[in-house]
Amino acid sequence: MVTINKSYMIAPGTAKTIGHILVVHATADYEATAANLASYEHRTWRSAETFVHLAVDDKGAFQVAPTGYVAWGAGNVNRLAPVQIELCQFRDRVRALKAYNNLIALAVAQAKLYGVPLTLDSTDKTNGIKSHYWCSRTYGGSDHTDPYAYLQSIGISKAQLAADLKAGHASVTATATATVLKPTVPVKTTAAKATTTKLAVDGDWGASTTKRLQVIYKTTADGIVSSQYPWACFKGAVTGFKYEKVNPAGSLLIAAIQRSLGLKDDGLLGPATIRAMQRKAGTPVDGVISVHSQLVMYIQRELNAGRKPF
Ligand SMILES: [Zn+2]
Repeated sequence: MVTINKSYMIAPGTAKTIGHILVVHATADYEATAANLASYEHRTWRSAETFVHLAVDDKGAFQVAPTGYVAWGAGNVNRLAPVQIELCQFRDRVRALKAYNNLIALAVAQAKLYGVPLTLDSTDKTNGIKSHYWCSRTYGGSDHTDPYAYLQSIGISKAQLAADLKAGHASVTATATATVLKPTVPVKTTAAKATTTKLAVDGDWGASTTKRLQVIYKTTADGIVSSQYPWACFKGAVTGFKYEKVNPAGSLLIAAIQRSLGLKDDGLLGPATIRAMQRKAGTPVDGVISVHSQLVMYIQRELNAGRKPF
């Protein structure tokens, strides 16, 4: 049993997740504890647009965000992952292996809660335990390769991780003889800020698509479509949509798009606005933003060509 401390939990108000994926990360930040990471993401999640559900170290776990709801740690996989866990990195081998053991215990317990099969990086695109590396390769929207380089540095191969997850417990024991790992080249991953790079034309409307729209429509470029009704028609809206059930004020970006379509600019992206966008895009007019939406692909292609989509 890994204890879960909830004192730094946030309430991001994101949508419920729709798949059965558990994402395993490593922090790339040596000696930062789970408490350090949770308090950091607690402070910065809005501006950094990054948070996971849980962080685990040699002492236990801290919860950052409610599991079962979208977190912003793994790009286009976010909507499919009810649980994302960060493994904290330590140079001290005993601490590192204790944290690894806690990761296995926590991941297996959380996988059971959310019906996630105990497979690692399998070909199943909506079920199973996945490395952030698998997420980047399979879905894009992020280019991180954790946690394998770090795990290798503490003597855990990918095969070992897979076997331990399948067995439901870690097979390595942290010995009392502390071997301090040499501070090797830090496992550095680049946090890509997608401002000039081409958007992935994947039809999923996430924070980077929003940000590019905001730049071209000259509204605040924070990657967030704020204050929307929690419409059921938003299946392909992946990250950065902020919902309010009562009297949402609407988004400046959506208002700008509505004005260019000749609609009332209430800033609320509802079925009528989506239909008008679809008519302009020449995609099927159903008032729904589906997963891998043709409308969103049109938007992404137009943005990549440097044009206003509407
Ligand atoms: Zn990661």
